[in-house]
Amino acid sequence: MRTHDLDFVIFGSGITGLWLLNRLQSAGFHCILLESDRLGGVQTMQANGIIHGGMKFGLGGLLSPSEDAHDMVGTWRACLEGRGDIDLSEVRILSQAQYLWSEPGMMADAINFLSSKLHSGEVHAVDGEQRPASLQHPDFKGSTYRLRDLVLDVPSLVATLARPHRERIYRVDYRHAQLEVDDVHQTRSITITGSDHELFRLRPQRVIFAAGAGNAELLADIGTLKPEQEARPLHPVLVKAAQLPPMYAHCAGADQRPRLTITSHIASDGSMIWYLGGELAEHGALRDDTLQIEAAREELNTLLPWMDWQGARFRSFRIDRILPVSDSLLPRRTDQATVERVGNHYVTWPGKMTLAPQAAQQIMDSIAEERLAPLYEAPPALPLPHPEQALPAWETLFGQGPRHG
Ligand SMILES: Cc1cc2nc3c(=O)[nH]c(=O)nc-3n(C[C@H](O)[C@H](O)[C@H](O)COP(=O)(O)OP(=O)(O)OC[C@H]3O[C@@H](n4cnc5c(N)ncnc54)[C@H](O)[C@@H]3O)c2cc1C
Repeated sequence: MRTHDLDFVIFGSGITGLWLLNRLQSAGFHCILLESDRLGGVQTMQANGIIHGGMKFGLGGLLSPSEDAHDMVGTWRACLEGRGDIDLSEVRILSQAQYLWSEPGMMADAINFLSSKLHSGEVHAVDGEQRPASLQHPDFKGSTYRLRDLVLDVPSLVATLARPHRERIYRVDYRHAQLEVDDVHQTRSITITGSDHELFRLRPQRVIFAAGAGNAELLADIGTLKPEQEARPLHPVLVKAAQLPPMYAHCAGADQRPRLTITSHIASDGSMIWYLGGELAEHGALRDDTLQIEAAREELNTLLPWMDWQGARFRSFRIDRILPVSDSLLPRRTDQATVERVGNHYVTWPGKMTLAPQAAQQIMDSIAEERLAPLYEAPPALPLPHPEQALPAWETLFGQGPRHG
């Protein structure tokens, strides 16, 4: 059997695996990325694309801005401007900001908190024509804030991260990648079986599990159930309607979570689609499709009553958000990626797309600490296919054709 020695094997081609592939290759390590389905991940390809600054993290928890989250927006901006660790200058930026609006009397705590941050550069109160078009109606009586977030087009992000490394990204049926593991959880080799090619073996220095929901099964393969992960079911809704203005905003809820999150995406047929998340998607996990679409219509009619939804088409879909379980009594921090070392593996869940660069940095720091150096030449081309890029729900649920790259 042929054996290929190499530095890293990465499992999973979502944002985490692709970011790491870029960082490791730039540092001189030779890597192979194995994907069991399509390029671009499961959660990643269906993400809204918001790169959160501190405020959303604050709203999800203790109303405190996070320094880490603040840094992440800076890290992403540097990459988008072509002066960061990875060149993302080809990525489409959908919006330079996400807004937050509230109805009068709503979420007094959060509004007080936001008001206290008005001079910090994190958040600005906006009025009149500075507000998103859907909030410029004379009947709108609430407050609007501009957050220091970005919204990215995820398909173009995935294509940009994958482009320099397409020949190192392979599709392999999960059942055809067998990990040979010793009794201290070290993967000694990975044998790739399959009926249409000869058996071969990969022998990496280190293995990275960046497989989202698939991490649990990979951990079981190396003989451990820790760290544990949980799946939080979501039921987002998409709306397609004629002449929708772009909208990138959270509506503040009664508690500290956004009641409704809206981002806008242009499908390959040129139509504008609103992507509805927030509490609607969280609470909607218990509703069937019909009830969820009714709930979405009701929210839009309540929160934006001046908009006309006649003729709008609604679709919903289900997806799990995968998060590691905190192993202490304290709640898991939502502003930090999780990276765990198990044997010669790194296992990672960023928790948010925003935090993928942080997960990668933690792994790069750990590699530097243990003075791991590139040892091997680039492996030859393997007899495996390269995966096609996945599509976001707004390209598939309304019956349009695919968009490439
Ligand atoms: C609806 C929704 C909206 C979101 N919106 C945002 C947002 O706006 N901003 C934000 O910061 N975060 C957002 N998130 C969170 C963010 O999407 C995730 O934290 C992030 O995308 C996780 O990326 P990942 O690469 O770790 O996992 P995934 O994107 O899930 O990718 C994992 C990949 O591993 C592959 N895989 C699985 N098992 C195996 C195996 N055994 N071998 C090989 N490959 C395998 C899968 O096929 C998949 O391609 C959102 C999440 C959801 C669910």
